[in-house]
Amino acid sequence: MSEITTKPASVVTGGAGFLGSHLSDRLLAEGHSVIAIDNLITGNVANIEHLAGNPDFKFIHHNVTDFIYLPGKVDYVWHFASPASPIDYLELPIPTLKVGSLGTHNALGLAKEKGAAFFLASTSECYGDPLVHPQTEDYWGNVNPIGPRGVYDEAKRFAEAITMAYHRFHKMNTHIIRIFNTYGPRMRLRDGRVVPAFIGQALTNQPITIFGDGSQTRSFCYVSDLIDGIYRLMMSDYHEPVNIGNPREMTIREFAEHIIRLTGTTAKMEFKPLPVDDPKVRQPNIDLAKRLLGWEPRVPFEDGIVRTIDYFRDRV
Ligand code: UDP
Repeated sequence: MSEITTKPASVVTGGAGFLGSHLSDRLLAEGHSVIAIDNLITGNVANIEHLAGNPDFKFIHHNVTDFIYLPGKVDYVWHFASPASPIDYLELPIPTLKVGSLGTHNALGLAKEKGAAFFLASTSECYGDPLVHPQTEDYWGNVNPIGPRGVYDEAKRFAEAITMAYHRFHKMNTHIIRIFNTYGPRMRLRDGRVVPAFIGQALTNQPITIFGDGSQTRSFCYVSDLIDGIYRLMMSDYHEPVNIGNPREMTIREFAEHIIRLTGTTAKMEFKPLPVDDPKVRQPNIDLAKRLLGWEPRVPFEDGIVRTIDYFRDRV
């Protein structure tokens, strides 16, 4: 006898990744059943091992660049699969392009077939090295299509274009978030992003590798705040891109100083060449998210970064 389930059914691509695993936790807490799909090239089953044995959670090892077949009902498709750190997409340029293009097409096709709502994890990289600061959603960006970061930026820009096409042409219920720098537990220690890089270096008293002179800025959002914005956006009736991020902006040098102070490390700063096309500034304008979703970040940088340092302490 088959069991009749009335729970909303969610599919999370990239479900074993940093954001996908936190999203899966949130969806289970909201009473969804969750199927996480991941090919584990940058995701890690350690991020979802606490969910093993949960009858509402299922993991499928699959590359969403290939056709996605799933039996049964699906109410929500959350497309999070992609390499997401500059080092990852430099090492995996073609898989990055494919998952952003073919993978998004497949995930949209799954949502269309099932009559499900669709959510695209897009990125502030759509703004490239921005000439408008802070970035508002109506800014079209300053992206170098043929530079090393272009594989990620252009794949995500294509993903936004195809998502809007499915919304307009197939009348699908779709949503697009532009994610700004996000940090927290379950980031990969060696993914090359500045948060795990500096924390890992500080905790092992290795030099803190500042790229360029450290005057470039970023604005860091704690993962639970981001996930809350994601959930609210999916449940909204808004279909165009929405920035979600924490507007507290700092230079990378200031960020390094915080990490040095909070870890008590003896490590010193070491200056390295700035990567090609590294954005000089980045800060979200979140007026739209505030107005539409009643959302704003709640976790202060000082709290979130201490929680993240504690997470990495056991893992360096
Ligand atoms: N960065 C750095 N040292 C590192 C890693 C990154 O100075 O070891 C800088 C990088 O050049 C960029 C910023 O920190 O200006 C954020 O880099 P990240 O890779 O986290 O992501 P991005 O915001 O560039 O996508």
